[in-house]
Amino acid sequence: MSVQDRVFIAGAGPVGLVAAAQLVRAGVPVTVFEAGGELSTESRASTFHPPTLDMLETLGATQPLIAQGLVAPAFQYRTKKDGLIAQFDFSAIADATAHPYRVQAEQSKLTRILLDRLRGQPGFEIAFNSRLQAVAQDKSSVTVTIEHNGAAQTHSGRWLIGADGASSSTRRALGIEFDGFTWPDRLLVVSTPFDFHSVIPGLTAVNYVADAERWHFLLQIPGLWRVMFLIKEDVTDEQIVTHEFAQTLMATVVPGITNYEISHTTLYKVHQRVAKTFRLGRAFLAGDAAHINNPLGGMGMNGGIHDAVNLTARLSDVWHDRAGEAELDRYDTQRRLVTLETIQTQTIQNKKNLESPEPFRRSLQAIKADPARTYDYLLRVSMLATLRRAEELG
Ligand SMILES: Cc1cc2nc3c(=O)[nH]c(=O)nc-3n(C[C@H](O)[C@H](O)[C@H](O)COP(=O)(O)OP(=O)(O)OC[C@H]3O[C@@H](n4cnc5c(N)ncnc54)[C@H](O)[C@@H]3O)c2cc1C
Repeated sequence: MSVQDRVFIAGAGPVGLVAAAQLVRAGVPVTVFEAGGELSTESRASTFHPPTLDMLETLGATQPLIAQGLVAPAFQYRTKKDGLIAQFDFSAIADATAHPYRVQAEQSKLTRILLDRLRGQPGFEIAFNSRLQAVAQDKSSVTVTIEHNGAAQTHSGRWLIGADGASSSTRRALGIEFDGFTWPDRLLVVSTPFDFHSVIPGLTAVNYVADAERWHFLLQIPGLWRVMFLIKEDVTDEQIVTHEFAQTLMATVVPGITNYEISHTTLYKVHQRVAKTFRLGRAFLAGDAAHINNPLGGMGMNGGIHDAVNLTARLSDVWHDRAGEAELDRYDTQRRLVTLETIQTQTIQNKKNLESPEPFRRSLQAIKADPARTYDYLLRVSMLATLRRAEELG
């Protein structure tokens, strides 16, 4: 079988399509294999951080995302007991980003924006109903087995990016371990069109509400609020998914308000795992295929997009003979270490903070009282600090 001069990408989620868009922009031919018959409509990630918006701007995706989303220049921490305890405003880091705000929009909006821009561009191909099953490689090529409409096909190309999500077939086919743990708690997301602004004065689009018994966070997207609750292990999945259970939880959000209109409820398991390596020969892992974490702080998809941008910049240089293949090891060094050092640590700490309202309140007030600490804190929350740290890692 002849080897195609192309990069293969498994998965047309936000990470796979950002990788594709970056490579095509750099003149590298790409084929994306997507298991689904169309782009996923699942609404998981809804927060895009400032440096991610900076990166998406170069792909022409930030302005369409803003047009379809909400700009959130500030976010708040609250406790159930005290109400608002701290508000942070991204204008304090306006010297470090061209987008000193978050954008609240579903990840399925980004994938559609990217695919619309990619279609028809020279070098871009996408195959739906095409599930990666196996990977083999030698010194100059990588061969993938794809199940397409029930039949197995093989294709050989130059490099492979596995962006096929948390259950990544690429990671399994490469035999890469996915170390970490699964929390015993689960996360229930309840979406409602109820207008929380009308009952909570001064509410921002992103709010984390700490409570020792049951914390939640309130995120606004166009037309809906998503309220996320941590569910402890003593409640069964069957109990959680009932309408009554969701209403009981929602009744704890604003005292005196009950019987919400509920648009969707979705239950998620929550994991903290990082792949043992992000590179094996001519194959790479990126996004949820490489690392998963709890959604507190919105770092999963954002970190995955940062992986895709880091990797594809190096791969384009190697493709065009501007760098040797050893350059690609720096992707693993930088992105795996920042994932372990910062993203995993911070998302675990974010969960602990919401469970300990009093110490959390004191630590936030100390940060707020000191402009230098506020600046550093915003760099961390916005993920600019992880990108700076990646550069330091060489
Ligand atoms: C409730 C919740 C809220 C979240 N909120 C945020 C947030 O606000 N901000 C944030 O940054 N992150 C958030 N996340 C995490 C975020 O959703 C993920 O990190 C993100 O979806 C990862 O993108 P991805 O492209 O790596 O994988 P995915 O989005 O999972 O996409 C993988 C794609 O690969 C395809 N695929 C799977 N297997 C194969 C195969 N074998 N062959 C070919 N294709 C395949 C799938 O069909 C899919 O299209 C949240 C997660 C949850 C659960």
